[in-house]
Amino acid sequence: MNDRALIDAFGRKITYLRLSVTDRCDLRCAYCMAEDMTFLPKREVLSLEELESVAAAFIDRGVNKIRITGGEPLVRRNVMTLFERLGARLGDGLEELTLTTNATQLAKYAADLKLAGVRRVNISLDTRDEDKFARLTRRRALSQVLAGVDAAQDVGLKVKINMVALKDFNQNDIAPMIEWAHGRGMDVTLIEVMPLGEIEEDRFDQYLPLTQVRDDLETRWTLTPMAQRTGGPARYVRVEETGGVLGFITPLTNNFCAGCNRVRVTCTGQIYMCLGREDRIDLRAALRGDEPDRALHEALDRAMRGKPERHAFDIDAPGAAPAVARHMSATGG
Ligand code: SAM
Ligand code: SF4
Repeated sequence: MNDRALIDAFGRKITYLRLSVTDRCDLRCAYCMAEDMTFLPKREVLSLEELESVAAAFIDRGVNKIRITGGEPLVRRNVMTLFERLGARLGDGLEELTLTTNATQLAKYAADLKLAGVRRVNISLDTRDEDKFARLTRRRALSQVLAGVDAAQDVGLKVKINMVALKDFNQNDIAPMIEWAHGRGMDVTLIEVMPLGEIEEDRFDQYLPLTQVRDDLETRWTLTPMAQRTGGPARYVRVEETGGVLGFITPLTNNFCAGCNRVRVTCTGQIYMCLGREDRIDLRAALRGDEPDRALHEALDRAMRGKPERHAFDIDAPGAAPAVARHMSATGG
């Protein structure tokens, strides 16, 4: 076992892993996927055992928080075994196991997730209008998602709603979403759309700066900044009138890289040291080669040496190619 902490060339300690377990999804959110997405052949995707080995290597090297993501993590067959295995590391290196989900399968899995040791889930929901939901996700699944939200709260999971702000689409849904969520004891985080992967629409048309959203919300509510930071790109405020917490993830309008504590591993075992960069290191080759344990740790060392100082997003040019060609569904949001 290798117990050296993961510290990059800029002195940042990596304690947070976002692990994508599939590139597949049962929705087709317009900003995330093309309608006719082609998914990866099974052999390219890490097996559940390989995913567990990757997670274990990170835990051994000081990662104490793991977020399972995708694609849609809950459409991966037998994914509950992975949650159970990783859940067994809670209190043994791991402090938090969590997931980001579109909630379509949550009614089915909420109780098992709780049993496995999950305490909090992030649920992505961009509108509560049935027709708009169907247009955005290209699937008529809002009632299924809302049943998932209910189930999560019923079993006692703490829920945070993630909402991507989209110009001329869900702008007017933002305040009602916050009222609804805060009324049910759920925090909300607003996300700026990021230039990841080629999709049909020009992303410039979707970009709604959160500075503008925040100004609008401030005409309605008192937003008190909170000290709480997570080492990620979110900033938080308390909405005094609702008593709830509101986060803003603004990768394009803010610089948050200095405190970065995270890396991402795709479902094919590529470790991306930065969401906004193409640099990656192949953990799958290490896992499937000779001496996988040693190779895995060497790959992690290389990754630390290569973690860039900051991201390279730029969305200010209409029609510009995405800074990063891969889709969010492949990297894991
Ligand atoms: N399927 C799960 C879900 O939707 O929660 C997990 C994966 S999804 C890729 C993770 C998060 O990334 C979601 O909140 C989604 O809204 C967000 N996302 C996807 N593409 C994005 C983009 N281009 N810009 C900003 N956020 C994006
Ligand atoms: Fe699926 Fe999540 Fe992407 Fe929507 S954002 S298409 S739910 S992976």
